Amino acid sequence: MSLSATVLGFSGSYAERGGACSGYLVESSEARFWVDCGAGTLANLQKHIDLTDLDAIFVSHHHPDHFSELPIVYNAFKWYLDTTGVPVYAPASVVDMADMITGNSTADVFEWHVMTDGDRIEVADAEIQFSRTEHTVENLAMRIRVEDRTMVYTGDTGPGWDLAAFALGADFLVGEATMLTSQEHPDIPHISSRQLGERAAEAGVGRLLPTHIMPGNDPAEHVSEAAAAFGGRTELPAIGSRFEI
Ligand SMILES: [Zn+2]
Repeated sequence: MSLSATVLGFSGSYAERGGACSGYLVESSEARFWVDCGAGTLANLQKHIDLTDLDAIFVSHHHPDHFSELPIVYNAFKWYLDTTGVPVYAPASVVDMADMITGNSTADVFEWHVMTDGDRIEVADAEIQFSRTEHTVENLAMRIRVEDRTMVYTGDTGPGWDLAAFALGADFLVGEATMLTSQEHPDIPHISSRQLGERAAEAGVGRLLPTHIMPGNDPAEHVSEAAAAFGGRTELPAIGSRFEI
């Protein structure tokens, strides 16, 4: 049994120089999942696996920094890899957006599974639960369990969603931490590293990975603010870093 997460990109909003937006390769003993398809993550994903080895794609929401590689990888499957039936789990708006961008129904390549708040599914050896967060569009956080190991990925959320309840007791929390404390603002639909750290402490998670870092900020500063509020082991996000859970 194993569960791991590899960082494919962790920039929020747009990829900073040499970076990529949100995306993670989540691997268990039996499956390989691409969790969020942010800009720049398709190239990085292929450093680790062949696209035809993907078992499923999960998309938290249709904002471009989490989604924009999906209509691109459609091209790869359709025109180059001759692959159909690729399972994609996502909110309904992601289906509409993918079809609009490609200009046709993507159902010839993607096997769509529309998810919504409270859904719980099994894919290969993993169980995945979804929870709608506080965001400007439907964003579904994911709680991924393989046997006795659990990771939570928030996608995007404002401070109003009960992150701690959803992440309760998780071994690994990949959480959005867009801002530093000095950048917190009630009009921004995101949380800061400090706010993430507080929620991680409340949830009693094992380890914390702050992500969705505002371009121009030093990720190490986000880690130190998150760690101060969390009081537990807090990892530095870096493209290509793989975390065993
Ligand atoms: Zn968003």
